[in-house]
Amino acid sequence: MKITKISTLCMSRPHELERQWVTGTYRVVKADCAIVVVETDEGITGFGESSAYGGPLIMRDWINWYSPLLIGSDPLDLGIAPRPHNRSWSHDCAVAGLDSALWDLRGKVAGKRVSQLFSTQPLDKVRLYASSGCRYDWRKRPEQLIEEALEYIALGYSAYKFRIGTEWKWDGVTVDRFLGLVRELAQAVGGRMELMLDGNQRFSVDQALTVAKELDRLGFSWFEEPIPQSDIESYARIAASVDLPISGGEQFTTVEQFRPYLEKKAYDIVQPDAGICGMSAVMQIAEVAHRYGVGVCPHNWHNGLMTMANANCVAALPNPKVLELCMIQGPLQWEILNQKPVIIKGYLELPLKPGLGVDIAAGLEDRFPYIEGNYAIVVER
Ligand SMILES: [Mg+2]
Repeated sequence: MKITKISTLCMSRPHELERQWVTGTYRVVKADCAIVVVETDEGITGFGESSAYGGPLIMRDWINWYSPLLIGSDPLDLGIAPRPHNRSWSHDCAVAGLDSALWDLRGKVAGKRVSQLFSTQPLDKVRLYASSGCRYDWRKRPEQLIEEALEYIALGYSAYKFRIGTEWKWDGVTVDRFLGLVRELAQAVGGRMELMLDGNQRFSVDQALTVAKELDRLGFSWFEEPIPQSDIESYARIAASVDLPISGGEQFTTVEQFRPYLEKKAYDIVQPDAGICGMSAVMQIAEVAHRYGVGVCPHNWHNGLMTMANANCVAALPNPKVLELCMIQGPLQWEILNQKPVIIKGYLELPLKPGLGVDIAAGLEDRFPYIEGNYAIVVER
């Protein structure tokens, strides 16, 4: 079998004004998607989603750059896929989509789910957690955070991750005020869902230590990226101060980036993403993390094809836990697929079809033409 063509589909869908959301100082105005397509001389095609964080058009340039090097190669040869190298995020996200497309193709050729290529006993379904809590506005209705949690309980989700809201300095928000809202949320949820907080690296070390202590007391499942990523020593200090797991690493693309955090016990859970580092790297990072006794809960934002790639990884992990599901991506998330996979009571059922288990809808670039510019704009108040 030989690769005959590699291309990239780039799509956007603007968010309606009422569906735009502000987190920190960013207003998110559209949903983006990039899908790498690998065609072969046997008529079998593989599809893989690259995280839109890499910028669809720049990622297309990277794929076009690699394309002549790969055409004529055997897609079943595991050595052909370019690797993430941690020098350019766009490059790494681009090759992540290519890597997932090659796995989709290999699964289709073998007549197996990709999870079955990674593990002899993969799960048939993966527990999802509802990931959002980034629409509440400290100036308007912070209680929207709680209403949203109750919606996800009603939908059957058993875990919910939220963020710390709009820029705190706009409204004089303090750790005390924030933790007041967190306690209200925990009380409203009343043990019906696990709760996780994503700090998005916005806390100081002192703030993070206070927040971690309270989340620990409230029985949270993890505290993600409490402080700026580069401060490994402080991560280790925060992790040592509480039983609550500290998590991070969604931007990392190589084992080498994770290793110092694992060595220094800075993370209890690591969060690689198949759309950012590729399925191969997720499985490789998971293997190393497992040796350090560290769990893997992949980061997963954006659209449904990437969710299937991450779900196939989770299903094959030595110690599978949960997978993130973005709750606010809008119609693009699942309309890129012919059929949305089944989600029952917060569990994603891996389709019985081979590869990543889903088909890409036709005419995507006509239906969702790419809109130039970043999906998030910086706002001030
Ligand atoms: Mg995060």
